[in-house]
Amino acid sequence: MTKTESRILVQVDSKAYAQKPNGKEIGGVKTRTQNSTAKNLTMEELATEIGQGKSFSPGILEGGLGASNWKEQQIFGVDIDNNDETLPTLTPKEAMKICKNNGVLPALCYKTFSSSKEKPKFRLMFKLNEPVKDEGKRLIVASTLVTLFPQADKSCVNADRIFFGTNKKVAILNKTVSFDKILEVSGKQIAPAKELTELDKLKAEFDFENFLNEACGKITRKTETYIMYKNCPICGHHDDFIYYKKSRTFKCFGAHGGAGGSIIDYLMATRNLSQKQAIDYFKLETLQITKKQK
Ligand SMILES: [Zn+2]
Repeated sequence: MTKTESRILVQVDSKAYAQKPNGKEIGGVKTRTQNSTAKNLTMEELATEIGQGKSFSPGILEGGLGASNWKEQQIFGVDIDNNDETLPTLTPKEAMKICKNNGVLPALCYKTFSSSKEKPKFRLMFKLNEPVKDEGKRLIVASTLVTLFPQADKSCVNADRIFFGTNKKVAILNKTVSFDKILEVSGKQIAPAKELTELDKLKAEFDFENFLNEACGKITRKTETYIMYKNCPICGHHDDFIYYKKSRTFKCFGAHGGAGGSIIDYLMATRNLSQKQAIDYFKLETLQITKKQK
């Protein structure tokens, strides 16, 4: 099987629409789509279904509707709705530039039913090289992709999200993204809180990685650039806590918007401290304890 022939699982509505389904129709669309048997489609076949105006569910749901029935997912959608009037309009061309700059290219791109010349609305579908079957990983991929684009609809990261088809052209790029690439991109999205130079020095000397190894225990995945811990010390979920070696930062992708940054941000999140309290705690407690251990 060549790469372009690879297939992905997706749930597709049996009914096609020539325009955007209205409020009354949406419930039926969701029920039909997510109760359907998942199809094994190539990107070309999926593009055809979408171009016929059929809705689809990238997350595979088994045993009924609702995010709790989510089982696996290989494609992820980002909606650029240009609804934020305070930001400049993002065109498909500019969105593609963002994709290229981050080395994360979509498999499909299409303008939605309600797109207009004045206000372009479009959807990028990204394909992973393998399906994710873990809720933590799903959230990491979904929120990282959405955060890449300033005009993206930030609310579309839920597991049971469905997407409508279109009455416009569907561009097939058929690119694939790896989970490791997503993590690399997510690491660049974290801006640690600004602090004083003296503190930066202390932080640079501090072995955050070793500290986390002791605090978190079991490691799910470890590469040259990051470590994924089994148990998240912040939200308690599995596989949603990442340590980025190069920047010495962490991120929890947990359900409540997540948390991320330096050891100071970590102490703020795990001990419910203000930034000032966390800095004091770091100097007086954390550093002293790790010094004694040496
Ligand atoms: Zn977490």
